[in-house]
Amino acid sequence: RSFDVIVVGLGGLGSATAWHLARSGRRVLGLEQFAFGHDRGASHDTSRILRHSYHRPDYVRLTRHAYADWSDLERESGERLVTRTGGVDLCPEGSAIPLDDYTRSLDAENIPYELLTAADVAERWPRISPPPDVTALYQERTSIVPAAQSVAAMQRLAGVHGATLTDRTPVLSVRQSADGVEVITPHARYSAGQVVLCTDAWANTLLEPLGTTIPLTVLDQQVTYFEPDDPAGFAPEVFPVWIWLDDPSFFGFPCYGEATVKAGEDCGGPEVDPGSRAGTTDPAMLERLSAFMAERFPG
Ligand SMILES: Cc1cc2nc3c(=O)[nH]c(=O)nc-3n(C[C@H](O)[C@H](O)[C@H](O)COP(=O)(O)OP(=O)(O)OC[C@H]3O[C@@H](n4cnc5c(N)ncnc54)[C@H](O)[C@@H]3O)c2cc1C
Repeated sequence: RSFDVIVVGLGGLGSATAWHLARSGRRVLGLEQFAFGHDRGASHDTSRILRHSYHRPDYVRLTRHAYADWSDLERESGERLVTRTGGVDLCPEGSAIPLDDYTRSLDAENIPYELLTAADVAERWPRISPPPDVTALYQERTSIVPAAQSVAAMQRLAGVHGATLTDRTPVLSVRQSADGVEVITPHARYSAGQVVLCTDAWANTLLEPLGTTIPLTVLDQQVTYFEPDDPAGFAPEVFPVWIWLDDPSFFGFPCYGEATVKAGEDCGGPEVDPGSRAGTTDPAMLERLSAFMAERFPG
């Protein structure tokens, strides 16, 4: 069969691509190597942070579109996806990640924020125990979005607009043809005018035979769910999304749909081949995160 566009990889980005292309009237085929809802890529699990506060103005500019796109998805899916909690970036004195980069980038894009002392933070959110040398950046629009639920919503909407989405179908290769591209799977050969590769950690597997690669370092990220003594003290209404800006950098969430708080080390983890990830716990990372949580989020 012939399509206008074939989207390879149906994680968050591929599902969004398939939805938008199908909505704009293209004949779309989406191919995913694993089962829908699998946990071997980057888009599964409960929560992701949606925020304006980034270290570069061009990133901050993009976040304006991200907020608009999330509203669009909520409208069309009829699902409530964005939970606003506010977000606090905690930056200790002499940090490896300069807070100035964040404030300059937000200023450049006219996004409001508050700068708080450690005492302000402890007073506003009693479950946070920052060291006295911390400066905190608070941005009120920071929110939580549900990763797996949103991917499923975009896949459903892509189908509503006529896209054909198929799981358990690895793309083996992509070739240029006289009138576009040919996409080869174990059981079929599809042609289309264009192909979009949304294959994230696997990107170079399909790119390399085409004579190009992108510089990628794939890390095995790890998140941990901690059970607080008093989940009500960590509810989204009273506890923010937080990021610890230093090396290592950590991030975490309020209780969100369950009586645990999720936290992780940002961009941490050992280098891994995405095709042979064991999914085992790295004890050193767990130890670092647990020690940090016990000190900064007692309870
Ligand atoms: C622990 C963690 C925390 C994060 N936190 C945040 C956050 O708070 N805020 C935020 O904005 N972002 C966050 N991110 C980043 C964000 O989740 C990812 O950028 C996003 O999910 C990437 O989506 P993707 O579709 O590019 O990749 P993936 O979800 O990995 O999707 C790629 C898909 O391509 C498929 N595929 C690959 N090769 C083939 C092939 N040959 N044939 C068919 N299918 C193929 C894969 O199976 C996979 O399903 C986080 C990521 C992680 C891992």
